[in-house]
Amino acid sequence: MSSQVHPSSEPARWRYLDQVRTRPGPFTNPDLFSGEQVAAAMESMKILVIGAGGLGCEILKNLALSGFKDIHVIDMDTIDISNLNRQFLFRQDDVGKSKAEVAARFVERRVRGVKITPHNKRIQDFDEDFYMQFQLVVCGLDSIEARRWINATLVNMVDEDVEDSYKPLIDGGTEGFKGQARVIIPTVTSCIECQLDMHAPRAAVPLCTLASIPRQPEHCIEWAHVIAWDQEKPFPALDKDDPEHISWLYQKALARAQEFNIQGVTYSLTQGVVKNIIPAIAATNSVIAAACCNEALKIASGCAPALGLPDNNYMMYSGNDAIYTYTFRHERKEDCPVCGNRPRELPVSGPQQTLRDLLDSLADRPEAQLKQPSARAAGKTLYMRVPESLEKQTRPNLEKTLAELGLEDGQEIAVSDPAFATVVFRFTLRFKQ
Ligand SMILES: [Zn+2]
Repeated sequence: MSSQVHPSSEPARWRYLDQVRTRPGPFTNPDLFSGEQVAAAMESMKILVIGAGGLGCEILKNLALSGFKDIHVIDMDTIDISNLNRQFLFRQDDVGKSKAEVAARFVERRVRGVKITPHNKRIQDFDEDFYMQFQLVVCGLDSIEARRWINATLVNMVDEDVEDSYKPLIDGGTEGFKGQARVIIPTVTSCIECQLDMHAPRAAVPLCTLASIPRQPEHCIEWAHVIAWDQEKPFPALDKDDPEHISWLYQKALARAQEFNIQGVTYSLTQGVVKNIIPAIAATNSVIAAACCNEALKIASGCAPALGLPDNNYMMYSGNDAIYTYTFRHERKEDCPVCGNRPRELPVSGPQQTLRDLLDSLADRPEAQLKQPSARAAGKTLYMRVPESLEKQTRPNLEKTLAELGLEDGQEIAVSDPAFATVVFRFTLRFKQ
């Protein structure tokens, strides 16, 4: 396929877009509106795209075709052969190259006049000055951690007296046939941290179900993975990328499925369950990317009300059961560690719980999802992961109970995690007994 642009196609390319952005409509102010100014403002606007994968390829293409001319893209990944079925800006020859760079060059070749600046880096490698130069941020990420990081950074950047410090964040996400598009106006609407429980870690199947009454093929696979492997230890350690190990699990799961008359255990399902793979579906990515880029066009041009300004801010899409979408207002939370100002209630079983159990539980709680927590309480350090000397010194505390550490019902603790360097998560302990 040729990637040459036919010169004659250029004026036609913008004709319909210009009808939308250069003519007054029901939402424009008739006294102030100037179509030329809107088009010029969009063209000089700097917009940042985070992620150049399944969603990111779609977002870059859509933004370029929506009239944005100055786009930056951050992605630290390189192109893998398995990306080629849906990440349509990449070709076989690009395998091993930077996603951000290849995607930027491809869109620049196809859409004349657009400038795309690629950054083959992590979002954490940039400081607030870098993010401050953009007027809009669009995320097409598959990682909750990266979303939480950029969200916390943009909320921190807000200075009430500087209008330009409010950077709208448009976030798209997909998982199989499901997805969401949302707009966050930092400190004004609810933020990604407020909405964290929308991304609860997948509920684990109780061990007793696995052990006694499996009902689904996945239960048989989990049984092989969690129970049979441990009992028989066929290899010293499970390597999820080793086909021999997956085959062993598959055979075990299959035998168990036959015993309980359950259909559907396959090698690829075994691999999917064990590696926790969620299929990426090209069409879901394009639906969600389209929704995100429409919001970008609306925010930039004012041609129609956008999500998040200020009512509904969250659109969920489900293609699992035919097609269903629902748009609603997700409220800000007063106890949000990023944009709120109150500590969050943390139910704990009681004073006999150890500090280790408490800290471990923070990884699974939908409202926390902190995998490497360090904690302190008023005037004392409970446990710190870094520096090493402090870790060594505080390690014995892990086995102590909350009572032994002098922690009482109603006491506030402050938790930090290296993944979110700038955020202190404040919790109030609530003993259940
Ligand atoms: Zn928040």
